[in-house]
Amino acid sequence: MDSREILTTPQISAAVIELIDETEEFCFLVSPYYKPWRQLQRALQRAKTKKRQVTMIYRADQNSHQLDSLLRDQESSQYELILVEKLHAKLYLNERRAIISSMNLYNSSEEQNIEIGYLVSQWNSRVLLQKVIQERLLDDPSAKVYPGWFHTEMERKRAEVIAFFAGLETRGFCVICGKHHGFQRSGSWTSPHIVRCKRCWLADTETPVDEIKSSYCYYCGKPFEGTCSFPLHPHCENLLEEMQPLKWMVSSE
Ligand SMILES: [Zn+2]
Ligand SMILES: [Zn+2]
Repeated sequence: MDSREILTTPQISAAVIELIDETEEFCFLVSPYYKPWRQLQRALQRAKTKKRQVTMIYRADQNSHQLDSLLRDQESSQYELILVEKLHAKLYLNERRAIISSMNLYNSSEEQNIEIGYLVSQWNSRVLLQKVIQERLLDDPSAKVYPGWFHTEMERKRAEVIAFFAGLETRGFCVICGKHHGFQRSGSWTSPHIVRCKRCWLADTETPVDEIKSSYCYYCGKPFEGTCSFPLHPHCENLLEEMQPLKWMVSSE
């Protein structure tokens, strides 16, 4: 055990802020009780501005006054809020590391209590802890979810992503004659002969495809001079670049 991995009270607060700030993908903040101090609120606002997925997990039996203030905070920072019964664990985790700690995200703990934390940077241990969050908290039957901004974003984006790939794989325009063909697919649109209608393909089966000039964009059918091997005009090419990393949404339907 490395002494640098043991955190004292002020170090835990600082490490939690750092954990939120360095988040590139997702961040879980598991704290039965919650009353943020100013730096923490600012970090959450920064995460919202940078569009990071933050999930807060609190204990379910809050009094109505506490719950109101939690919900106000959630609305302002737009994170996902999950209430779980009997929660007593405190754990802060992003895609790089985790902090196991005795400390709640509660301003007086930060100021008055003696707390101890342990910083976990080893990949395997972090993955295991993430699994614990999934199985013991997110999948807990008592878990009550107040969705964050990314739920609506994903819902909105998912329809767009599905429509895009459906268009790319099944619709298509012949890049030689510009006609909308809709013929039966036997492969992906990236197979060069598939971007030509049967008639245009039969007219020239000899020339290597990257030498065949295309006259129309495969995806939108607008006039575009490219080649059969990559017949997307710049706008559609940008769209493909934007959608490609989201393709998993199509298969997770
Ligand atoms: Zn054609
Ligand atoms: Zn296009």
